[in-house]
Amino acid sequence: MPAPISLTRRQAIGFTGAIALTTLSGLPLARAKAPMLGQAKWDFYRFKLGAFEVTIIRDGATTPAGPYPAFGEDQFEEDVHELLAANHLPLKRFELPYSPVLVNTGSQLVLFDAGNGSSRRPDSGYLPDGLKAAGYSPDQVDVVVITHCHPDHIGGLIENGSAVYPNARYVCGGKEYDFWSSTELLEHDPGMARRARSVQANVVPLAPKMSFLEDEGEVLTGIRAIASPGHTPGHLAYHVESEGKRLLIWGDAIVHYVISFQRPDWPLAADMDKGVAAETRRKLLGMAAADRIPVTGYHLPFPALGFVEPHEDAFRFVAAGYQFNL
Ligand SMILES: [Zn+2]
Repeated sequence: MPAPISLTRRQAIGFTGAIALTTLSGLPLARAKAPMLGQAKWDFYRFKLGAFEVTIIRDGATTPAGPYPAFGEDQFEEDVHELLAANHLPLKRFELPYSPVLVNTGSQLVLFDAGNGSSRRPDSGYLPDGLKAAGYSPDQVDVVVITHCHPDHIGGLIENGSAVYPNARYVCGGKEYDFWSSTELLEHDPGMARRARSVQANVVPLAPKMSFLEDEGEVLTGIRAIASPGHTPGHLAYHVESEGKRLLIWGDAIVHYVISFQRPDWPLAADMDKGVAAETRRKLLGMAAADRIPVTGYHLPFPALGFVEPHEDAFRFVAAGYQFNL
């Protein structure tokens, strides 16, 4: 009778290890190939601003044709292309992200803009998912601030006839609300009528819980409005400040991170008053550059956060690095 084989622990590990690494033929075992997983997208980015916490949430992004002629329609196409190429951007397609901002003051949870909503666009309407991923539930939101009444900012206020943020009060520019809530707009050209219908469906029903601000109006201590007309008649940007730390939330006053910064005078087709919109861009960009205030814009590349630097006779966007993580 042969003696039983007894292996020490070290020998046993070495033995099974050898089996695992080679087949009987001596060739390495074939391993399953890792699948392609597609583009990864972040749901949110959170940072401290003094005693406040700011969370920027991804509602989604679309990839329309352009940016020309939606941006710079009065320019030669080649000149727009030259600017894009100089900034390492493709010429015929661009990304338009949607980035609502949540500010937690410690006592109030304030949401700036409500995203597209579930039914508006194929790759957007993710704000409620992002909110959840970031650790909040819609019923915790105390205030919803509307920078302006375009559908990509108000589409997510009401779903299936119910307010998505059931405990919130609402804030909107007075001039903005008066303009868009007029039922006369429903008789306008199809583009305007479509926007007006969206306001009737998503904003007007919330009016009893809404307060209306003008320039310098306060949402609450530390958050005040800055008139920024042009994109729409009553568009409001917001200045947020806590313990000396500041942030500018400018909605759609500045849209494209290259064109709107480096050529602020070029018209944007979606701006309702193009001359006033260009003045507003110069004013806000100049203020952010002079005061070195961080900025977040609804359509800037996610997480839509950075700084403004003077550049030639205009500006350039400096995307956030790690400064908000420290
Ligand atoms: Zn927008």
